[in-house]
Amino acid sequence: MKFCPLYSGSSGNSIFFGEGEDKILIDAGLPGKRIDIAMSEIEEDTSNIKGIFITHEHSDHIKGVGVLSRKYDIPIYANELTWKAMYGKIGKIKDENIKTITKPVEIGNILVEPFKTSHDAADSCGYIIHSGNRKTGIVTDLGILTEDIHNKIKDCEIILLECNHDVEMLKFGPYPYVLKKRILSDFGHISNEACAEGILKIFNGDKKHIYLGHLSKTNNHPDLAYKTVEVILESQGIKIGQDINLIMTNRDKISKVINL
Ligand SMILES: [Zn+2]
Ligand SMILES: [Zn+2]
Repeated sequence: MKFCPLYSGSSGNSIFFGEGEDKILIDAGLPGKRIDIAMSEIEEDTSNIKGIFITHEHSDHIKGVGVLSRKYDIPIYANELTWKAMYGKIGKIKDENIKTITKPVEIGNILVEPFKTSHDAADSCGYIIHSGNRKTGIVTDLGILTEDIHNKIKDCEIILLECNHDVEMLKFGPYPYVLKKRILSDFGHISNEACAEGILKIFNGDKKHIYLGHLSKTNNHPDLAYKTVEVILESQGIKIGQDINLIMTNRDKISKVINL
């Protein structure tokens, strides 16, 4: 399998997953051309994508989805309420490319399983991608990491986990009070500390590759996010690089590609 966050951050998200010929994107929240560029950088062609799975209707997750679906005739998968919320925002989509998710979806040899997240969107979700006996989890845009989510993702070998903000930077930063309150709520985004606590809860001794994703541009900094998580994990005896491969994602370019 091959995995790469093409872009991750509050300004746009799109994640590539491939197993043999079965290739998908989770979200397409940047202009289609930028996703094409990132795909060519990982030596892939967007025309081979068999489905785009949407986590929720915020523009940093859907900006390019209509364009890519029309250009390459790609089916778009989302649950019913997310379709209702995004339908008017992505332009005309061919009827046969409108796929409503009601249960896990098979794309060739992979199975894409949605799970509910707590976020201020119509019906947001994360995804577990099953391929062979391996699981990959996409877990961003959520205000709280519930026990249900811990259980879902604890045996994932690769996880893209939200590490959105530094609480102090957010509290003392330029955002209006209402927005700060929203981000800190159970329907907002999880902080660097909450991300580290989540990793501690799901660590089961098996080596994991964990990408820190969806960083805020205003209320976080990649070095600060990485260091915060690293210090908390190491204080509990987890060795970075040995027990957990901790990988920072990039907002404006592709992140590290994993081939397993
Ligand atoms: Zn987002
Ligand atoms: Zn969102």
